[in-house]
Amino acid sequence: MKAVVDPDLCTGCELCADACPQVFHMEGDVAVGGDVKAEDEDAARLAAEDCPSSAIEVTE
Ligand code: SF4
Repeated sequence: MKAVVDPDLCTGCELCADACPQVFHMEGDVAVGGDVKAEDEDAARLAAEDCPSSAIEVTE
């Protein structure tokens, strides 16, 4: 699974990086996702649901 952040939608609130640092990190004012390990999938999905800007897309 992958988690991709749309930099045009991300407001840099850092919620995802705080909630799920194993997947998301900040690069300046924008969050960046990446490959999601099996044990982190639930946390990544939750971070996507909780993103106030709906900027995170998770793909299988
Ligand atoms: S939760 Fe959403 S808006 Fe906030 S930093 Fe993460 S991707 Fe950006």
